[in-house]
Amino acid sequence: MAQSAGVGATERTLEAAAEVGFDLAGVAPCAPPPDAPRFEAWLDAGHHAGLDYLAAERARIVDPRRVLAAGRSIVMVGLAHSRPAFRLADGGRIARYAAGRDYHNVVGEKLLKLARLLQREGLVRERRRVVDAGPLLERSHAARAALGFPSKAANLLHPEFGPWFFLGALIVDAELEPASAPAAGSCGSCRACIDACPTGAIREPGLVDAGDCISYQTIENPGPVPHALRGSIAAWAFGCDICSEVCPWGRSSPDLGARFGTHRALEAATLIDLLLDRDDTRWNGSPLQRPKRAGRARNAAIALGNVPSDRGRDALLAVLTVDHEPLVREAAAWALAHAHRDDGGVRNAVLAALEREPDGDARAGMRRTVETELAPRSTV
Ligand code: SF4
Ligand code: SF4
Repeated sequence: MAQSAGVGATERTLEAAAEVGFDLAGVAPCAPPPDAPRFEAWLDAGHHAGLDYLAAERARIVDPRRVLAAGRSIVMVGLAHSRPAFRLADGGRIARYAAGRDYHNVVGEKLLKLARLLQREGLVRERRRVVDAGPLLERSHAARAALGFPSKAANLLHPEFGPWFFLGALIVDAELEPASAPAAGSCGSCRACIDACPTGAIREPGLVDAGDCISYQTIENPGPVPHALRGSIAAWAFGCDICSEVCPWGRSSPDLGARFGTHRALEAATLIDLLLDRDDTRWNGSPLQRPKRAGRARNAAIALGNVPSDRGRDALLAVLTVDHEPLVREAAAWALAHAHRDDGGVRNAVLAALEREPDGDARAGMRRTVETELAPRSTV
């Protein structure tokens, strides 16, 4: 049965969210958010790339009452994570949010504390936590709960933290008071993120094509990165902060680096470490665990192709034919050809690797590399 509540219960809930450590909190109704049709149109247009679970879970994602039948309200929370840009020792880049402890754990633990506190105080009986990748239009509900305003980069902006905050949701059976007005602020005439995106993934204000987004390609895509995007990925080995870094909102947000720390596997790490390291357990508790070793090494190879060095070349040659992952061998061939095409030894090594490659997909990728990276340059 739904808990009856009201303004007092709402105030207490938001206060409790602050007590457990959230920077932002607000309430949205437990119903499809106003921009649910926009999400469905995005899916129908195929902008979700390989994120097939979004299409499979469409009904539950759109309607939170399918996630918790007794749900009446959604307590949306935000945890800021602004910190200086994070670079590997050799210039490789990691999205700022991913440099420290995995936010899924941090936000999830705080949400659990909040849920137990509200249950202890009799404000809530049934509840369900959602942190990212869960079946919920988090950003839409957070906008309805006035945690921030939707931006042209398709994220949410907060006047103090800009785009630098994580979202979490607690669907509860209590009837709480939703935010009475949306958060103040807008992108106005700015379009810095659209102009700065190196892949043109922001198709129009508020619409990002996942397949062209470096974040999707380096985190979610388990297969080869499309050749056409590889050069634009530059030094990014996990995620991409470009559209957030150019955003004028949140430029004066506090340095909260100590809040999530730096994961021990990233301390003094280089792209070469990411390429050669085969110990998945070192990444426990880090967001970089998600793409697993094959994805991390693939990303590192591509980045090494974009920031050439002698040591990078030697490391790529070391995995070119012997790495047990076809994904890594194929990416290494591209990186070597892209960065060292004028080196005769490297050319021969890539051509020999193509001849010997036993995996059909990797062979097709290497053939494409030879055609696009090693073809004679036009003199016209
Ligand atoms: S994360 Fe990077 S690639 Fe993706 S939309 Fe933003 S700037 Fe473009
Ligand atoms: S860079 Fe400009 S257009 Fe893009 S999200 Fe920020 S304010 Fe909006």
